[in-house]
Amino acid sequence: MSTKSERMKAIHGVKVTCECGIQVARWSMSKHLESKTHQSKISGEIIPRQERFDKQPIEQRREKERERSAKYRNENGDKCRENNREYWHKNKEELCKKIQCECGELSTKSSLNRHRKSKNHNDRLQKQQLND
Ligand SMILES: [Zn+2]
Ligand SMILES: [Zn+2]
Repeated sequence: MSTKSERMKAIHGVKVTCECGIQVARWSMSKHLESKTHQSKISGEIIPRQERFDKQPIEQRREKERERSAKYRNENGDKCRENNREYWHKNKEELCKKIQCECGELSTKSSLNRHRKSKNHNDRLQKQQLND
């Protein structure tokens, strides 16, 4: 006659070989049968692509990301510059046209937005208001 704890020890200690080939403690067999380890072994270790990707260390993934964006820049950098130049050329007159800001300052269209946020612009507006 064995005590309860001895029986527990016996149950916990017993290892069985699962159909997937992994040795599992008998008490954890039902859990193992639902586990990914068991299922991937049974299905010939076909792990979905996405899952494999997720299992890559984060550093490795970042490295890949960097490579990809560097490659993209290499391939498209020149094109980008080209586009900019073309845009500039086509809109040169427009961009260089002087416009008078409400503060009285002459500014080009391209720098007007920046000018409107400038101290210079605000000072001028304030002065105008004082004069009114
Ligand atoms: Zn198994
Ligand atoms: Zn202004």
